[in-house]
Amino acid sequence: MSSFNLNDPRRVDVEGVSVSPDHYIGGQRVSSPNTFESRSPSDWDRVLAKVARGDAATADLAVTAAQEGFKTWGSMTPAERGEIMHRMADLIEANNDEIAMVETMDMAFLYESMRLRLVARGATNFRLYADLAIEHQERTWDGRGGAHVVQSMPAGPAVIITPWNAPFMLSTWKITPALAAGNSIILKPAEWSPLSASLLADLAGEAGFPAGSFNVVQGIGEEVGAALVSDPRVRRISFTGSPPTARHIGKAAAENIVPFTAELGGKGPLIIFADCDLDAAASMASGQFDDSGQVCLAGTRLLVEASIRDEFLAKFNELADKHVMGDPRDGATTMAPMVHPDHVDNVEGFVERAKANGDCIVRGGSRPSRLNYEPTLIEPKSNDSEVVQSEIFGPVLTFQTFETDDEAIDLANSTEYGLSSLIFTSSNERAVRVGRAVRAGIVWVNTFLIRDLTAPFGGIGISGIGREGGAHALEFHSDLKTLIIKEGTTS
Ligand code: NAD
Repeated sequence: MSSFNLNDPRRVDVEGVSVSPDHYIGGQRVSSPNTFESRSPSDWDRVLAKVARGDAATADLAVTAAQEGFKTWGSMTPAERGEIMHRMADLIEANNDEIAMVETMDMAFLYESMRLRLVARGATNFRLYADLAIEHQERTWDGRGGAHVVQSMPAGPAVIITPWNAPFMLSTWKITPALAAGNSIILKPAEWSPLSASLLADLAGEAGFPAGSFNVVQGIGEEVGAALVSDPRVRRISFTGSPPTARHIGKAAAENIVPFTAELGGKGPLIIFADCDLDAAASMASGQFDDSGQVCLAGTRLLVEASIRDEFLAKFNELADKHVMGDPRDGATTMAPMVHPDHVDNVEGFVERAKANGDCIVRGGSRPSRLNYEPTLIEPKSNDSEVVQSEIFGPVLTFQTFETDDEAIDLANSTEYGLSSLIFTSSNERAVRVGRAVRAGIVWVNTFLIRDLTAPFGGIGISGIGREGGAHALEFHSDLKTLIIKEGTTS
């Protein structure tokens, strides 16, 4: 039975799933006098929900509740917290298809991919951190005349701010280390995709999180988001989004001297050497149009060895032609509508400026409808072109050629970003040498997206500050204390 059929007349129906449009604060649903509309990219005339638009008073209420919740949650043992987190994972699995459908309607990720992959990843995130926190307890040793005890203490209320792409997977990825470390959380999802966070709040209530330990606040970033990150009672800020927003949040964190992590945008190179499996490389390159390119880790700069230029382009174009635009619920669709018309305006702006700049549009370059943009490839006039240097976050790739390994490395490292890189080669020696020389938080060779979740994850340059993944995120959310007791101390 669905966990979402709760008795509340304010809840709205989204494709058969009942969703609350309100905040979740201190274990209760709380409304706001003002609302904002969540519309479906699949049918832009359809308002899915009028969602509570939090303000400074909402932020104050949420931080007060999180302080209260921290008293209970922070004093439980990792094993007690882990039990509730595993129950949450069970509930996510039991409600998998409903969560997938709401996310698909809210931000147009493909339903089958949500159903089979991304919701399950949410449950995995809860289980991973429930178990890791148990391993991550005190360390002790004797030395230099004293017994050393290193204690991981929960830090306090943590504010977690997430972007509109893959909101369910990313929210669970970011709240789970905070919760496992013993912090209470306030999740503020993006205003373009707020609904799956509301389902998470329902499940948190059912799983048994103590009141105030798990809060969800809805609203606009510059309003309630800014108020949350400025509150001096908040002890951690974990952000995923764009570099300009990170600069604002970083200033608030600096003002209150609060640790802050930022997972930001990318402009990843996809380097294709002549010695590679060209069919696999072309397929990977064309696959960067999946999810309409709204993927931070995507390899959006195709760097191709000059000797295989024509052969690569022929294969790439053949595959790119096969992309099907359509409804995200339809299994045949590979490119669903983009999240919001304003975002398509941004993407269109990049391509129009590229045309004006004299960059060559190799394929695509037009907007077939209000919410779709064609799979587009641009050969820039120079490496300084805006389309090479700026994150577009849509189905627009650039194409450049190189003659030598060193030239490929220089091009790969020539933007301010450093989130991800992809390399295609059959040479192990080249994979290691080029892989080591490329500046990025993660480098994939002959593959993409696979990752053990205990490995560090994060960006270099304007792609981010700090590392998520495994114990790295747990350490961020903990205050470490070293206690030293002089040898021979007796009671
Ligand atoms: P954004 O920076 O516009 O917004 C992100 C979040 O910040 C939203 O919840 C928003 O409401 C909030 N926000 C905005 N202004 C704020 C303020 N002044 N104070 C507090 N909160 C504020 O980003 P977006 O457009 O939602 O997301 C797209 C970006 O996210 C892209 O750059 C993408 O590459 C990046 N991203 C990075 C990763 C990663 O893991 N590195 C993952 C997904 C997306």
